[in-house]
Amino acid sequence: MKITCITVFQKNLTLEHPYWLSGGRLKFETLDATLVKFDTDEGLTGWGEGTPWGHTYVPAHGPGIRAGIETMAPFILGLDPRRVLDVERAMDLALPGHLYAKSPIDMACWDIAGQAAGLPIADLMGGGSRTPKPIASSVGAKTVEETREVLKRYRDRGYIAHSVKIGGDVDRDIARIRDVEEHRAEGETILYDVNRGWTRQQALRVMSATEDLNVMFEQPGETLDDIAAIRTKHAAPVSVDESLVTLQDTARIARDGLAEVFGIKLNRVGGLTKAARMRDIALAHGIDTFVMATGGSVLADTEALHLAATIPDHNMLGTWACQDMITTEIADGAGPRAKNGHLHLPEGPGLGVRPSEKALTKVADYE
Ligand code: MG
Repeated sequence: MKITCITVFQKNLTLEHPYWLSGGRLKFETLDATLVKFDTDEGLTGWGEGTPWGHTYVPAHGPGIRAGIETMAPFILGLDPRRVLDVERAMDLALPGHLYAKSPIDMACWDIAGQAAGLPIADLMGGGSRTPKPIASSVGAKTVEETREVLKRYRDRGYIAHSVKIGGDVDRDIARIRDVEEHRAEGETILYDVNRGWTRQQALRVMSATEDLNVMFEQPGETLDDIAAIRTKHAAPVSVDESLVTLQDTARIARDGLAEVFGIKLNRVGGLTKAARMRDIALAHGIDTFVMATGGSVLADTEALHLAATIPDHNMLGTWACQDMITTEIADGAGPRAKNGHLHLPEGPGLGVRPSEKALTKVADYE
């Protein structure tokens, strides 16, 4: 089987609520999504999506994905999409780095490979748990009272995993954590996501002041060096997501004991093929995982769900439904949707959901 044509589409996904990142980074109102369609000489078509969470969050750029695909396309056309490692190597040779531009290509290959095998991607990767995956809420930086209200709204919809966004104001962070913990419901997973919003002294002050609560923090510093520097000075479990990019990062975090949880963001790390190696390092080192889209439509959420399904349930803390934060629909309501705070793996072959082409704007094709 050969890839005969790569068609690239663009779509602005409108956020239901404009998003302000912590630490003075810019506000944004839409996500710039790139969708790719692969045609093959055997009649199968596969879809991939790459949607960064804006371009002020981490080094990733919507137009950069499309430019990267233009550069890589001549090296991918003619390859067998079922041989995902061959495609991965071709991309890495054609364009070192730029992982976020590679993930939609990797995803389209897995979609076709799954269809060719008649299996959902999760099963093709070696077997998939059908346990519905808890969706982590996203509780923005607000006052104690507002945090309580937003959490209640999520709980009323069945959510049992929560990502409470903190960072930037030490006293307010401590007050919000204490209040959330006081009202924590039985069986909930709560992660306090700093999104790199603290300096080292701020991190130590909040983490020390809440040590008695034994809570988990995500990305409590800008870099792995920051997280390593404060490591011996606090007792809290740490999750790393923004600093988890390459397999080398993964190995360092595991070896040096910098985190007890990985937040694997599929677009950020370059797609399923590369993320699967991070999963294996995590499992080999007793590190639990959140697996999620970096941003995007139901396609991006579904990609994450397939990887999440290959992780034992007791090591898989949650996923995310970015689709619930955007008002733009590109798949006519198809694919896994939030049900009682959980996402269910689709049983169709391949990804199990595809977009409606008429919802998208075609920007390029390569053959
Ligand atoms: Mg995070």
